[in-house]
Amino acid sequence: MTHNLLCTVCGEKCSLLDVVDFNKSCEEIRGKFLDLSGIPIYYALCNKCGFCFSPEIITWDLEEFKEKIYNDQYVFVDPDYIETRPESNAASLITIFGDRAHSIKHLDYGGGSGVLANNLRKSNWNSISYDPFVDKKTIDQLGKFDLITAFEVFEHVPDVQELMSNLCTLLSTNGVVLFSTLLSDGQINPNQRIVWWYASPRNGHISLFSRKSLEILAHNHGFYFGSFSQGFHFFCTKIPSWADHIIKPV
Ligand SMILES: [Zn+2]
Repeated sequence: MTHNLLCTVCGEKCSLLDVVDFNKSCEEIRGKFLDLSGIPIYYALCNKCGFCFSPEIITWDLEEFKEKIYNDQYVFVDPDYIETRPESNAASLITIFGDRAHSIKHLDYGGGSGVLANNLRKSNWNSISYDPFVDKKTIDQLGKFDLITAFEVFEHVPDVQELMSNLCTLLSTNGVVLFSTLLSDGQINPNQRIVWWYASPRNGHISLFSRKSLEILAHNHGFYFGSFSQGFHFFCTKIPSWADHIIKPV
C-alpha cells in the first residue's frame, strides 16, 4: 500500500504518517473509549499541501460505509448529529442572514435526514437537504442554489474531487458555499504520530484538510476561499449582496 500513494487534493506523492485503531472515535476527547477493534487504519499525509487521508477507507463504496461506519452504532460516537447540531446550525444561519435569506435558494449538502433544512423552512427559507448516503436523487436532478451549506461534511468525504465537482454543479453563479471542518494545521505534522481527536476513523473522519489543501481545491475550481475561524469557512466566486455583511472583499 505504501508505493504510489497520491494526494487526492494536489496529486503529489504521499507517505503513510501513522496507523490508528478503527474504533478511535471523536468521543475519546470526552473520555469515552470504544473497545479496540483490532483493525488498523492508516493515514497518509501529503508533504506538499498537508492533506491527510485514509488510503483504504476512501476506496469504500456507499454500502461499505453504511455497514461499517454509518450503522446503528454511529450515534454512540456522534450523539449530536441527529438533532442537536442541525438545530443549532439552523439557528445560527437564521441569525447570520435574517431577512436576507428570503431571496435565496438554499441547499444543505450532506444534511442527513434533513433536520437543518426542515427547521429553516419553518422560518420561511427556501431550503432543501441532500445527502448522498440518504437520497436516491442524482446531483443534476437537484437544480442550482445560491447558498450551499455543508456542516461537518468535508472530513467524511472519500472523493474530494467529486465533492468539489458536485458543489460546482449545484452552485448558482455568484453563489456561496459555507462549510465547517476543523483545519489540521498545527494538529497533524510530518514525522509525528497522530494524537488529534478529530482524526477518528470510527466517525468516518477520513479526509483531514490543512488550510493549504483547501486553498488548492478552491483555486482549482475557480473559487475564492476564506475562513471565519479554524472550523468555519467559505468558497465563492463573487460576493453576492445577501452575503456582503459576512464576506468582505480582499
Ligand atoms: Zn497534496
